[in-house]
Amino acid sequence: MRSLGAITTDFDFDTPGKRSGFIDLTYSDNDNAFSVIRLPVGVIKNGHGPTILLTAGSHGDEYEGQVILHRLMQTVAANDIQGRIILLPALNMPAVRSRSRVSPLDHGNMNRSFGLGAGEGPTSSIAKFINAHLIPMADVILDFHSGGSATQYVNCGFLCLGPDKGLRTANLEVAEVFGAPFTMVCSIDGSGGDFDTAAHSHGTRFLACELGGLGQFSLHSFKVGWQGVLRVLAYLQIISQKPSPSKTRFIDIDTKCSFITASHHGLAEFHVSIGDTVSTGAALVTLYDPHNFGEIFAKFHADHHGVIAIIRRNPMVLPGDHLCLLAQELRPEMLMS
Ligand SMILES: [Zn+2]
Repeated sequence: MRSLGAITTDFDFDTPGKRSGFIDLTYSDNDNAFSVIRLPVGVIKNGHGPTILLTAGSHGDEYEGQVILHRLMQTVAANDIQGRIILLPALNMPAVRSRSRVSPLDHGNMNRSFGLGAGEGPTSSIAKFINAHLIPMADVILDFHSGGSATQYVNCGFLCLGPDKGLRTANLEVAEVFGAPFTMVCSIDGSGGDFDTAAHSHGTRFLACELGGLGQFSLHSFKVGWQGVLRVLAYLQIISQKPSPSKTRFIDIDTKCSFITASHHGLAEFHVSIGDTVSTGAALVTLYDPHNFGEIFAKFHADHHGVIAIIRRNPMVLPGDHLCLLAQELRPEMLMS
């Protein structure tokens, strides 16, 4: 039995074959007084080769990645692979059970709980277990996200670039192999407590992805993620069949992007859709004043050329709500400078 704080498991990650089991989170409240919260885990292992860790359900209202991991676990046999695939489809199971972004137990955001300042709640206990036991097992990690109930993302890889140049190159290669239509690029700043930064501190290759959103299952986004994970498995020579490659477009969500943010309570009319390429000056959003029928409160225009990378779901907005994110495209060679 391996334990760390409130986490226990006797799951066997090492013996060849295919099996599933649980990592147990102990948490005692009115609903969990005589129980554990079970995080499903699976392993597929055969022969010699690298280990890939596949995770989803970090945010509980993001579904494509969870389904991709279930389908992989159901369809891939040990004899199909060389190496090891470790799968956790519901990293933050309390959030998955409640169909919510963060845990209902402690309001913990799984992807902000890997840092030292994350506290001692159940969400950070899961993060600490992943950090101490699962990241060290992995040569490559793919972490599946979607936009959740609040937003829609372009189907994209999500690449955080850290200071280690060798790791930057290796992660860039994984993003190119994954081959989503877009890859969002940002810098690791070390303060966010995210999974990317934790993997970077271990020197482990890591790519996240964002597959659609809106708190629904999108077949199109699912197919992007499914083809992407098969390409990465083939690139690592864990599986032998090679899906056809797909070229990704890199977009900057760090310094060369603009959040279009509501300054007033309003009803938004969007003039763009997710993934649209727009020119400087293009109309993006008209904001109507719900208390002055017939009045336009504000019009937002693109202040630079770019791609509509994220768009909000609900058009009734409050001051401070982001309406969309406009991101500039990057050439791959710009990423290594
Ligand atoms: Zn997410």
